[in-house]
Amino acid sequence: MERLSTAFELPRDIWLAIAIKVTRNSIADLYKFCMTCCVARDVGDEDTVLRMVAIPPPHEMNWLWIRDPVGRRFFERCIGIGHPELLFREALRELYIRHNHAIGWEMLQNAASNGVDAAKYALSMELLYTVSMMLMLRDDFESKNKGLQTFHVLEAAGALTICKLVFHDVIQGTWTHMRRLPMVNAENLVCSSHACPSRGNMGAIYRSQRYGRGWDLNDGDGGAAHIPCVHCRADYELILFVHLFD
Ligand SMILES: [Zn+2]
Repeated sequence: MERLSTAFELPRDIWLAIAIKVTRNSIADLYKFCMTCCVARDVGDEDTVLRMVAIPPPHEMNWLWIRDPVGRRFFERCIGIGHPELLFREALRELYIRHNHAIGWEMLQNAASNGVDAAKYALSMELLYTVSMMLMLRDDFESKNKGLQTFHVLEAAGALTICKLVFHDVIQGTWTHMRRLPMVNAENLVCSSHACPSRGNMGAIYRSQRYGRGWDLNDGDGGAAHIPCVHCRADYELILFVHLFD
């Protein structure tokens, strides 16, 4: 019988390139692609392809997918092979819901090193939060510098607001009463310079922004953006971070 298509004879690299293009569109497109023929089904199941599949934001996730055994296996497989976005969401659940700090921390670092900006944001906030809480006992310069450096890069790239929105989206999808809530107080500061004129004023700036203007996620047009001390700006960001759990 005459063959209708020579697509089967395409080199595997071409199939892989097509699958990657499709998988970046949506899960539905990947599934349709996999159903076209057996070669597409094999290629569509490769780790490289699954690691790049476009995952909808948490508020758009169809929870039937998670309940369905096939859907659940699909997501578990994607997390297992290190899909960065899913790894980030799972890391937050481990850190703030299941209280498995070591596992969550490892997942978060993995997601951050795979380029997820929201994971870098969470990593920097967790480092600075831990350091500021321990400041009375021990000054962990390495963690502080790493946290500050990551914070500063995101700040300079104007990426903080989107990171917070993504973080908030994941956290808001979890049970309020089960969350581990970080807390900051006036004594625990990233800025440790007694010569700094803005040290200790971030709480007041936050309150005037939040209750005066009615927003708490944005940082581009107010907040502490005008403060020259990066340590104080990090303190302000920590206050915003803590309020993401409200
Ligand atoms: Zn300062």
